[in-house]
Amino acid sequence: MTAASSVDRDRIAHRVQTIRATLPPTTRLIAVTKKQPVAAIRAAYAAGVRDFGESRLQEAEAKQAALADYSDITWHLIGHLQSNKARKALQQFQWIHSIDSLKLAQRLDALAADLGCQPRCCLQVKMVPDPPKTGFTLEELWEALPTLAQLVHLDIQGLMTIPPLNTDPETTQEIFEAARDLRDRINLQGLDHLYLTALSMGMSGDYPLAIAAGSTMVRLGTTLFGDRPA
Ligand SMILES: *Cc1c(COP(=O)(O)O)cnc(C)c1O
Repeated sequence: MTAASSVDRDRIAHRVQTIRATLPPTTRLIAVTKKQPVAAIRAAYAAGVRDFGESRLQEAEAKQAALADYSDITWHLIGHLQSNKARKALQQFQWIHSIDSLKLAQRLDALAADLGCQPRCCLQVKMVPDPPKTGFTLEELWEALPTLAQLVHLDIQGLMTIPPLNTDPETTQEIFEAARDLRDRINLQGLDHLYLTALSMGMSGDYPLAIAAGSTMVRLGTTLFGDRPA
C-alpha cells in the first residue's frame, strides 16, 4: 500500500472539526504536514484548513508544486532555516516562525528588500535553557530588540516557543505564560515597528495549555494526521 492510499480522509476531517471546535475563534490552526503525503494536505484542505506548516524547504517545495492548484494556502515555515536557503524560504513561505538569530533576521530583511516582499515572522525564543534547540535566549533577544526593530522589511508579528522535550505540564504551562508575558513586556518598550501580537505555541501534546496562555497559532501534526511515517 502506498502512503497516499493509506490516508484516511474522513478521520482527518473529523479531527480537524473536533479540534477547531475547541479553539478560540482568534486562534489559528496550522496543520503541520512534515513527513505527511500530499493526500493528507488535500484532506485537511477539504476540511477547511488553509494554513500549513512544513519544517524543511525541499520537502515543502515538492508538495507546493503538487498543490499548485490550491492558490489560497498560507505556508508557514516552522523549522530551522539556514542562511544560505533564506532566499528560497522567502519565495516559498508567507510566514517564517523560526527566526532564531539576529544574523538570520538581518539576512531575511535584506533579501525581503531585494525581493520586494514583507514576510510575516515570529522570533523563536527559548524561555528556558535548551541546548539542543535553536532560538534566541532571553538575553540575546533583549539585546537584539533595538536592531530587530530597524528591520523594516520584516513584518515581525510575534514570538514562537517550544518547551524542551519531556517538560511536565505544570512547567509547560509556566513556559507558555512566560512567553506571553515576554511579548507584553517587549510591547511596553514602545519600539517603532516592533509591536508583537502573535504567539506561535502549542503542539499536539500541549496545545490546550498553550491556548490557556493565549496562543494565537497552534502548530498541530500528529493529533490531526496520526503518527508521522518514520
Ligand atoms: C513537528 C512540529 C510540530 C507538530 O508537532 P506534533 O507534535 O506532531 O503536533 C509543531 N511545531 C514544530 C516546530 C514542529 O517541528
